[in-house]
Amino acid sequence: MPLLYETARKGATINEAEIGMIVDKLKPQISGEVRMDKYNRLMYSTDASMYQMTPIGVVIPRTADDVEAAIRIAKEHGVPVMPRGGGTALAGQTTNHAIIIDFSKYMRNIVEVSPEERWAKVQPGIVNNHLSAAVRNHGLMYGPDPVTSARATIGGGIGNNSCGPHSVIYGKTLDHILEVDAILSDGSRVHFAPTTGSLLEDKMSENTLEGAIYRETRRLAWENSAEIEQRFPKILRRVMGYNLDDFMGEGPMNLTRAVVGSEGTLVAVT
Ligand SMILES: Cc1cc2nc3c(=O)[nH]c(=O)nc-3n(C[C@H](O)[C@H](O)[C@H](O)COP(=O)(O)OP(=O)(O)OC[C@H]3O[C@@H](n4cnc5c(N)ncnc54)[C@H](O)[C@@H]3O)c2cc1C
Repeated sequence: MPLLYETARKGATINEAEIGMIVDKLKPQISGEVRMDKYNRLMYSTDASMYQMTPIGVVIPRTADDVEAAIRIAKEHGVPVMPRGGGTALAGQTTNHAIIIDFSKYMRNIVEVSPEERWAKVQPGIVNNHLSAAVRNHGLMYGPDPVTSARATIGGGIGNNSCGPHSVIYGKTLDHILEVDAILSDGSRVHFAPTTGSLLEDKMSENTLEGAIYRETRRLAWENSAEIEQRFPKILRRVMGYNLDDFMGEGPMNLTRAVVGSEGTLVAVT
């Protein structure tokens, strides 16, 4: 599998003929929108940050199938994908020479709410405040409250491990995301949740990308535990690097905790 910087280099130098080939493959497979014209590429070349990078194009998915198709086609052409929510991140996290996957237009629904158990299953493009408004009658709200909560999405918060003025009381995104459905770089689907016992052993022994991720995450955390213990900053919210400090113990593994704060570099959350 090509490394991220190699795909970004390909994305930066891709020619119009190959973009045309990508469009021809995407259009029959995407039930949402495929926008690869110059106008849309310029529109999506920036976000709330000062950075600008012209993307290869934009896919606006209606379903996880659309996301999977976009990732598989990007892989065939050796170019990166870049998930995007509200685009309010401040460090250029949603700008790249990539196929942008914009979750904010269609994949913004609430799937299920359990007021008794205080959880909600949502699509990643839902705006934070829309979720809070929908559960207000139950006396509930979504905890992490970045200043941009009127525009920012749950998926973007997962990318950034977002927090806000009340996070000292209510916690940051890492404290609130229980499980995720996601699509890996080879287009395979995963569900990350607390995993233990024979299920964890089965996952570890799978000859798949998912299996390799379980094995490598644990190996990295265990082999470097002294360094992680000594050098990871002990602060309330951290968003640089991956949360390897969460995988040092022998208990259940929940790879959701690696996805939070990963800035769209590991998976697309669906
Ligand atoms: C004025 C201002 C104030 C802000 N205040 C705060 C604050 O108080 N606290 C705070 O934490 N942040 C703050 N931010 C930063 C930002 O608004 C938040 O982090 C917000 O939660 C990002 O959400 P978004 O939907 O806009 O994400 P985006 O900017 O769209 O994306 C953020 C990251 O998440 C990834 N991502 C998006 N969707 C997915 C997905 N489906 N799967 C995988 N990865 C995905 C993207 O690739 C990117 O790396 C502020 C920004 C501005 C402009």
